[in-house]
Amino acid sequence: MKRIAVIGGGITGLSACLTLVKELDKYPTELILYEASNRLGGRVHTIHDPSLDLTVEAGPDSILTRKPASIHLIKSLYLEHEIVHARQSAGNIFIVRDGKLNTIPNGYMGIPCSDTAVESNLLSREGKQRVLAEE
Ligand SMILES: Cc1cc2nc3c(=O)[nH]c(=O)nc-3n(C[C@H](O)[C@H](O)[C@H](O)COP(=O)(O)OP(=O)(O)OC[C@H]3O[C@@H](n4cnc5c(N)ncnc54)[C@H](O)[C@@H]3O)c2cc1C
Repeated sequence: MKRIAVIGGGITGLSACLTLVKELDKYPTELILYEASNRLGGRVHTIHDPSLDLTVEAGPDSILTRKPASIHLIKSLYLEHEIVHARQSAGNIFIVRDGKLNTIPNGYMGIPCSDTAVESNLLSREGKQRVLAEE
């Protein structure tokens, strides 16, 4: 019997386990997932505060639909009906800097970065270089 260890129960480790379970269905295999913390999901973490009726994504809150991998994963888990499409207004993002609310230019947090992001003074020169290096 083969023994396979997957280290980390974030989305990467969980996806690896899902793929392995499907691929190794016919072969006797022991698959063990090791997770250091007391919960699965890694950076993917939804917090719900019932007293405020508030749901906050502590990590990722969206997927890029033009990249097929996450859609494929969602479909394979039959969760397609749970996809919530972003409203146009969701493009307005703000950040507090020096005590003031600043509008984040379009393309700043999205991928790819737009020219307006480069013209803004919200990021340092090095920060802009990092953003531009994003695929
Ligand atoms: C604030 C924030 C917002 C983001 N927004 C988006 C978004 O909107 N869309 C998007 O696509 N991506 C987003 N990302 C990126 C996305 O969250 C990550 O790329 C993705 O969750 C990484 O998953 P992972 O499984 O590779 O790693 P992680 O989620 O970091 O999981 C690694 C897991 O391994 C465990 N681990 C580590 N070391 C060990 C060990 N030695 N033994 C056992 N377990 C171990 C950790 O406890 C953790 O559970 C965001 C990230 C952050 C931080």
